[in-house]
Amino acid sequence: MNKNNFIENRKSKKALSLGKGWDRILIIGAGLCGSLLALRLAQRGYKVEVYESRPDLRKVDISAGRSINLALSDRGLKALRLCGMEEKAREICIPMFGRLMHDREGNTFSSNYSGSANEYINSISRGDLNAILLDEAEKHENVTLHFNKKCKKVAIEKNIAHFIDYKTKEEFPVIADVIFGADGAGSSLRKSYLSERKFLFSYSQNYLNHGYKELEIPADTNGNHQISKEHLHIWPRGDFMLIALPNMDGSFTVTLFLSYNEGEFNFENLTSEEKITAFFEKEFPDALELIPNILEEFTNNPTGPLGTIKCNPWSYQNKTLLMGDSSHAIVPFYGQGMNASFEDVFVLDEILSYFEKSEENFDWETVFKAYQKKRKKDTDAIADLAIDNFFEMRDHVANPLFKEKRKIEMDLEKTFPKQYMSKYSLVTFNEDIGYNEAMKRGRAQDKALLNLISGDEVHTHLEMTKEELQVILDKVITETNTILQEDKIAGL
Ligand SMILES: Cc1cc2nc3c(=O)[nH]c(=O)nc-3n(C[C@H](O)[C@H](O)[C@H](O)COP(=O)(O)OP(=O)(O)OC[C@H]3O[C@@H](n4cnc5c(N)ncnc54)[C@H](O)[C@@H]3O)c2cc1C
Repeated sequence: MNKNNFIENRKSKKALSLGKGWDRILIIGAGLCGSLLALRLAQRGYKVEVYESRPDLRKVDISAGRSINLALSDRGLKALRLCGMEEKAREICIPMFGRLMHDREGNTFSSNYSGSANEYINSISRGDLNAILLDEAEKHENVTLHFNKKCKKVAIEKNIAHFIDYKTKEEFPVIADVIFGADGAGSSLRKSYLSERKFLFSYSQNYLNHGYKELEIPADTNGNHQISKEHLHIWPRGDFMLIALPNMDGSFTVTLFLSYNEGEFNFENLTSEEKITAFFEKEFPDALELIPNILEEFTNNPTGPLGTIKCNPWSYQNKTLLMGDSSHAIVPFYGQGMNASFEDVFVLDEILSYFEKSEENFDWETVFKAYQKKRKKDTDAIADLAIDNFFEMRDHVANPLFKEKRKIEMDLEKTFPKQYMSKYSLVTFNEDIGYNEAMKRGRAQDKALLNLISGDEVHTHLEMTKEELQVILDKVITETNTILQEDKIAGL
């Protein structure tokens, strides 16, 4: 039995009292969600133990095979701000103001993320972000981190998580008052919900036929970025695409999204050096010139699957709760998985604040239910939006109708920042609007604009006056409201 586990401390619960948060909490997983959750619960006074299956990423390089950098945006920043971590995170961020599209001939064109100058997304290293969160969490004496300890299953009725220590091979149980599963898409807690069959647990996992593989554009000989670091680069090719996000060391992490087994080129048939080279020469000649180790990286780097996980309920009685990817893994095309997982922590914190006011009646089951009631519709929405964006990024961004729509949106956002926000802005830069509302409004606006453009009802030219844009805005608002009204009647 591990001497540090909670069983030893359970009888002296009151003696260990740390203000109102005397419950001892176990978090499974010290990834992005788990480490932020640990920090926030520690700040609230709870005694928190975190068990992570992998080694401590601050000491061992374990980034290979996972997305090396991520797009951090306003919802994630809002949660980091809550925990006093925004500034530290911003120090390791590279702002990206828009997409830079690359065609097969090597021509590029850019499309800003927003018409407002202060709205941009940030490229950040997963490992560095995780590390600063772990450092901060560990500063709290009421947080203990354990690495190399994998949860095998959770006996949910008894609140006992069973672990194996990867180093000693010893197996041991940990009991806690409350167990949070922040152990990602393959969550052990979620699997235990399924296998224990203690309650009606609904679960779905849908894979895309596409997987992803990471490659690298190294820095130039002076350590500088070889292409614009102010953009998220996209090479859209219909059935597949390449993207690149900048890193602080001058390199770019490049991600190829490609079908496993469909189309002329796919992961299953790109098996020889000749085929890999031919594929890149034909589809991404400008990128190929920038990736010197393409063959080695393509062959050795793993191909990862892309899927959406939805489940219900997320909690069991007053004992356990799933958070982050364990409850709602999504495909990465809106750059929102981590942001949504951080926002989970923000929402849980709001709910805790509300219920902790009446300490007498505080109980975790009520907290968990209130949390899911507030959160689930939003995480379902971002899951669907992320799938939509898969098609938008690989197909539509290069489409003339789409380009015209984006141009009008940029002009409207720039001229009427309070009255018009595109779907992308609603999702990415409007952290006070839930994903579900952002999706409904954003989709209706998209439909309205496309209807007006294709029906020749709005006419655009390069330099539009404020008066001309006002006419377009009025038409878009009227059409959007009609669509929202119709959607409401149709129960959407
Ligand atoms: C290719 C790709 C690109 C992405 N890009 C973006 C982006 O640009 N922006 C964005 O917001 N999101 C992005 N995401 C999504 C983002 O990576 C996830 O949403 C985020 O990592 C979720 O955090 P999490 O802590 O819930 O899960 P994870 O980050 O997966 O962390 C789970 C942790 O639990 C540990 N663990 C797992 N099982 C066990 C176990 N049994 N016992 C103990 N520990 C365990 C893991 O080792 C890990 O440390 C991307 C994802 C992918 C795949």
